[in-house]
This record gives sequence, structure tokens and C-alpha cells, in this order.
Amino acid sequence: MAISKHDFTILVADDSRLYRKLLEETLEQEQYVVCFATNGREASALLAEHRPALVITDWEMPDITGIELCGQIRSSQEPYTYIILLTSNTEKGQIIRGLSAGADDYLTKPFHSGELLARVAVGRRIVELHREIQEKNRLLAELALTDSLTGLPNRRAVEEFAVRQLSGAARHGFFFWVVMADLDSFKNVNDTYGHEAGDSVLKTFAAELRANIRASDICGRMGGEEFVVVLTHVEEPNVHIVVERIRSQLADAEFTFGETHFTVTASFGIAGFHGGDTPNFAQLLKQADAALYSAKHAGRNRVVFARGTE
Ligand code: GH3
Ligand code: MG
Ligand code: MG
Ligand code: MG
Repeated sequence: MAISKHDFTILVADDSRLYRKLLEETLEQEQYVVCFATNGREASALLAEHRPALVITDWEMPDITGIELCGQIRSSQEPYTYIILLTSNTEKGQIIRGLSAGADDYLTKPFHSGELLARVAVGRRIVELHREIQEKNRLLAELALTDSLTGLPNRRAVEEFAVRQLSGAARHGFFFWVVMADLDSFKNVNDTYGHEAGDSVLKTFAAELRANIRASDICGRMGGEEFVVVLTHVEEPNVHIVVERIRSQLADAEFTFGETHFTVTASFGIAGFHGGDTPNFAQLLKQADAALYSAKHAGRNRVVFARGTE
């Protein structure tokens, strides 16, 4: 993943007009996008505005030192910024201080323009690596919360979301519902039509759940042929309508697999929270699960509310 020069902004912070000019001329050769600060205050403002990938900073400026600027950059959570200290100071102790304050590299004035460009290219490689790692981490975090077959949030993602929403429901007094759904006699579907057919039913059901809930709600796959929906800010009659709609849509859908056509149903158990005792998501899940069990027991393909929540 090579970074284009347009995605690689360089901030030059130097109070010397001469050095700003020299740096501009050097960096121009490689057509980098460069912005210039003449003091620390301007550097801070430009850092926030442009989020440069690389900073070349002078050691001494009127209001701030390059070292302080390093500290400022390193204490922020922004994507990695590569820092080159530009100093007329060749005293080793100060260079060590600069590097330990967070600078990645240093150059002494007067600099050699070829060397400066070579060091900027090193910085670019490091920033590229950081961006790759960041992107991979983002992907891994997403995968850790996603069910790979259906693309729905997995159990962990639903739990994280639900626990947060539930404390909001307790604080602000809105309705909170947990719907457990389990496909009926799904083992038969696999046994009769094959695992691939079973998988495609799971995907269809997942898409149907997603299509029937609002962006502020969540549906996920708990595992196997079990799904969960968390709905908030709706009263019982509307929860019933939403879940009934999901139930009947699935029951009415005809699946075609090769030459065969078949239908699948699901059972639903619902538990709700609206004020009262300190809520506990695990407890609500248990209640929804018990209601689901009742739905199965009563003949499947139906919606049952947990006792006390209908
Ligand atoms: P019930 O109505 O009581 O829920 O019966 P059931 O057959 O659905 O329940 P059971 O727990 O006996 O079986 C669940 C089946 O779900 C077993 C397994 O073959 C199937 N299953 C679980 N995960 C997957 C999956 O990822 N893909 C497919 N195709 N099938 C799955
Ligand atoms: Mg200076
Ligand atoms: Mg089942
Ligand atoms: Mg099951």
C-alpha cells in the first residue's frame, strides 16, 4: 500500500525564513504537500488542521522548542506522525533528549538536501507501515465482532451494545427489548436439503432481521441457528408487530434449492425492561430464552413474551 504524495502532508516548523525557504525548495523536488509554521502556536494549529504524516521541526523557536512539539505530537492519539528534528545543535546530549522526547530522527543545520529527502523517504516508509498495521488492526477488531457466515454482529458485539443500551434505558427510562429467535426444526433442513441450503437460510434470515430493524437497534447471531434482536424506544404492541412481521416474512418465504422448494419457520421469545430493578442483560436473555422455549413447546412458529413483560 504505497501512500500517494497527496496523502502525505509534511509540516515544517521553523522560525527562520531562510530555512523555511531551503526546506521548501528541497521538498518541492519531490512534490510533497507541505505546510509551514513559523512558531509553535502555528505548528499546533496546523497539526490539528492537516494531521501531517511527517513533521520537520526546528530545535529552537520563539514560543516552544522542537522537543516540546515532539511531546505534544506523541501525547495525541492521531495516526503516527514521523518527526525529524532539525537542529544546529550537534551536542550529543541534546540529540539524545530530542530522540527520547519522541523524535524519530534528526538532521543538523546546514542540511544536505539529498540527505534530507532520503530521510523523509525513510519516514514515509515508516508511516506507510503504521497505516498498514492500523488498517489490519481495524479489520481484526471488526472481524472479532462479526459473524462470518451472515455478516451480522456476533454474540460479543451484541452483548457490548446491549449492556450500554440497557444502562441508558435505566437512566433515561426508555423501553428495552431482547428478542431471541431460533429456527424451527433446523436440523431437518440440513438433513433433508444439505448444509449449504441450511447456510443460505441462515443468511436470508439474517438479512430479513436486518431489514426489519432500525439503524439504532441491533440484531446478531448468537451461534448456530439462534439469533438475537435488541430493540429500544418502542412499546410492547410495536415490538409485537415488528417480531410478528419477521416471523411471518420467514414463514412465507419459499426457499429454492436445486429442484426442491421448502419453507422454514422460527420461534421467538421476548423479554423487556422498562425501569424497575437494576437491569442485567444476562438475566433478560435468560427470560427471553425461557419464553422461546415456551414458543417451541406450544408448537413453534410463534412469538411469546416472557412472563411479566407482555
Ligand atoms: P428446534 O425447533 O427445537 O430448535 O429444532 P432444531 O433442529 O432447530 O434444533 P437443534 O438444536 O436440534 O438443531 C440445530 C441445528 O442447527 C443443528 C445444526 O445442524 C444446525 N446448525 C447450526 N449452525 C449451523 C450453521 O452454521 N449452518 C448450518 N447449515 N446449520 C447449522
Ligand atoms: Mg529557530
Ligand atoms: Mg432450532
Ligand atoms: Mg437452537
